[in-house]
Amino acid sequence: MKTGKIYDVAVVGAGVFGAWTALVLARRGKRVLLLDAYGPGHSRSSSGDESRIIRMGYGADEIYTRWAQRSLILWKELFAATQNVALFQPTGVLWLAETGNATQRATREVLARCGVKFAELDRQALAERYAQINPDGIATALYEPESGALMARCAVAATVAEALRLGVEYRVAQVRDPQQAGKISHITTGAGESFGAGEFVFACGPWLGKTFPEVLGDRIFPTRQVVFYFGVPAGDQRFSSPALPTFLFKTDESYGMPNLESRGLKIGLDQHGERVDPDTQSRIVTQSEIEQIRKYVGWRFPPLQDAPIVETRVCQYENTSSGDFLMDRHPEMSNVWLVGGGSGHGFKHGPAVGEYMAGQLLDEAKPELRFSLASKATAQKRAVY
Ligand SMILES: Cc1cc2nc3c(=O)[nH]c(=O)nc-3n(C[C@H](O)[C@H](O)[C@H](O)COP(=O)(O)OP(=O)(O)OC[C@H]3O[C@@H](n4cnc5c(N)ncnc54)[C@H](O)[C@@H]3O)c2cc1C
Repeated sequence: MKTGKIYDVAVVGAGVFGAWTALVLARRGKRVLLLDAYGPGHSRSSSGDESRIIRMGYGADEIYTRWAQRSLILWKELFAATQNVALFQPTGVLWLAETGNATQRATREVLARCGVKFAELDRQALAERYAQINPDGIATALYEPESGALMARCAVAATVAEALRLGVEYRVAQVRDPQQAGKISHITTGAGESFGAGEFVFACGPWLGKTFPEVLGDRIFPTRQVVFYFGVPAGDQRFSSPALPTFLFKTDESYGMPNLESRGLKIGLDQHGERVDPDTQSRIVTQSEIEQIRKYVGWRFPPLQDAPIVETRVCQYENTSSGDFLMDRHPEMSNVWLVGGGSGHGFKHGPAVGEYMAGQLLDEAKPELRFSLASKATAQKRAVY
């Protein structure tokens, strides 16, 4: 077994959480090793699709509104510095809900308190502005003009590229659970290599339960999530930005984006699918998933009733019991950190996660209780959306 250089921090997992953790640590002058079993933002990872929503609204969960505000600033700074400005698409984000929707009401209050720009649309304004949407069941809409979409897998690649420019070393390797007690000195890979570091961050997304089965096997719930891209009619601009913003139908538990990069209208349902293994789950959509989404899209977006499905993605959420992130020390290995639990809403927060982890590792910053391992139950009761 070869043991070489000793790093300050080894980060396992180059999804959005690991990539930003490595980048922030490198900016603070640390010697960082970043490892991933498959590659940054690869097709099986949770960060691997084309796009992810960045919105400020989070109901009453103000911490995530503030984190999204901070993260958008950091994403834009990164993209500007690396000549990647198109990786943030300022489409605006439109929330649509039925009368009396409590999340929408709380969102309005928190956005106002946090100084986030937004506008409210009544049913009539909605129908006038967005005639391509069937407004059945929708009474109110809330529009965030400065939010939008991040071009996800390319944004992860840009984050890793910047981290490497600042001296982070990157390896393709699968890391084994160290399974030791106390402070550990190194990690080993499936290929038998060994890497020494002072601290170890396991940002393994939906693999966290497989990597640490005893601690997280029943605390991280990876669920199958399916996303469709519908081809828009030829010459039709109604499904492109700015005619159509990024959207969340709270009433239907659906979300999607306009025709970004001409890939079609993206749409997904936010309900949790079946529990899956991220290494082996089928990435092919099923006939019943197709039928369900076709019916829905034909109803909500009548002009797309006969539109072809031009692309699909099958991914997984890496849910915690509540939907709150997990960022805490391993209970037995004092210099091993568990980072993940993005729970279907984590992507936008990558930069804030990186800053939080740097605070924990370098500044002994006060930990946030809702990110603790102790707060993660073994039964799912989703509370954060
Ligand atoms: C369909 C879908 C829609 C979503 N929509 C949104 C959205 O609109 N907005 C939003 O903000 N978020 C959204 N999310 C959530 C967001 O994408 C995730 O929370 C986020 O990408 C999680 O990133 P991660 O780095 O924790 O995990 P991942 O991206 O999965 O990265 C984990 C990495 O760890 C590596 N790894 C694991 N184990 C090992 C090991 N032992 N050794 C080496 N490497 C290892 C993996 O290869 C992988 O690359 C969505 C998720 C899905 C699936």
